[in-house]
Amino acid sequence: MKLAMIGFGQAGGKIVDKFLEYDRNTDSGIVRSAVAVNTAKADLLGLEHIPEENRVLIGQARVKGHGVGADNELGAEIAEEDIDEVQGAIDNIPVHEVDAFLVVAGLGGGTGSGGSPVISKHLKRIYTEPVYGLGVLPGSDEGGIYTLNAARSFQTFVREVDNLMVFDNDAWRKTGESVEGGYDHINEEIVRRFGVLFGAGEVEAGDNIAESVVDSSEIINTLDGGGVSTVGYASEDVEVTSGGGGGLLSRFTGDDGGDDGLDTANTTNRITSLVRKAALGRLTLPCEIEGAERALLVMAGPPAHLNRKGIERGRKWLEEQTGSMEVRGGDYPTNSPKVAASILLAGVHNVPRIKELQQVAIEAQDNIDDIREQSDGNLQNLVEDDEDELDPLF
Ligand code: GDP
Repeated sequence: MKLAMIGFGQAGGKIVDKFLEYDRNTDSGIVRSAVAVNTAKADLLGLEHIPEENRVLIGQARVKGHGVGADNELGAEIAEEDIDEVQGAIDNIPVHEVDAFLVVAGLGGGTGSGGSPVISKHLKRIYTEPVYGLGVLPGSDEGGIYTLNAARSFQTFVREVDNLMVFDNDAWRKTGESVEGGYDHINEEIVRRFGVLFGAGEVEAGDNIAESVVDSSEIINTLDGGGVSTVGYASEDVEVTSGGGGGLLSRFTGDDGGDDGLDTANTTNRITSLVRKAALGRLTLPCEIEGAERALLVMAGPPAHLNRKGIERGRKWLEEQTGSMEVRGGDYPTNSPKVAASILLAGVHNVPRIKELQQVAIEAQDNIDDIREQSDGNLQNLVEDDEDELDPLF
């Protein structure tokens, strides 16, 4: 499906930048337009692929291009005040050519955390296309204020979008590596997962030799209904030109590939095991998959390595695991020497990480309130001499 992406704040901008890179490398055609919005000039300058005319610096009068310093209330205020400047960039998007908007932001900071719900609300008011969010949760080692920002932004962002897809930095940190050091690798993981998912709805007519190609409307219907979503992914390398029939070669020779050239049982088994790995492995937002309201299974890979039976089995298995009857599934034929299962689980409810985030956020908020309350008295004690013998100058 074709998306208009808006990256808010540093993380949002960098991830949208990566989506453009992915789009170019894989020719998947998912990014119709990309806009970056920030209060920090340096962050906008650091982007590589988003066109300069689509980089919007907001809040210049308030913060002079230096960012909001993890103050997400200020981030939200500035986004409200300068919404016309953001709209100016959105006006250049051929909205009739996009299937949906995707607003991307790290929820732990200031600009993206505060601004992304504001821009989402604005987009929903003006356009009829769905507005989705991609929100990144901070690592648990980032500290109380980031957790508090994320918990408050999460609540607001979910309310303002048609669906909030979540990626948890904490679950993706490699052991022994700080999240900071791993952003490049993490951003690639984000883009791969969501890229396969959204790319599925963008298969050109000529490519369509697979049996049941996923359509944009299936992605939209899975996300429709709101709430919080997570994505699972697993892949396996395969030989593209193996087996005589099928494979890349067959796309040019007119042989329709299918199961003939490859062992059908192997193909089916590979698909079903990839579906299990994707659903039970690390999700973008770890959670219990039981109770997910809707799901979409996308099997990507060379057509000769995809078959209806495997996808059907995978889909059935997902129905059993989630307890939902609304599980869609289909192919995404590609030329890459890889078979991949990407699973969108929409409307998930049992998410321990969110509850933990909220708990830490409440503690952080209480701590901040206590310190503020005592601050005047403490300062008074420090500044005044015990016997009150000194007088200030004026
Ligand atoms: P903002 O510019 O004020 O919106 O704040 P940032 O985007 O710099 O940071 C917000 C949060 O996003 C941080 O607390 C991190 O958890 C996360 N973050 C920052 N940069 C990246 C990035 O490149 N990738 C990912 N996945 N997360 C990031």
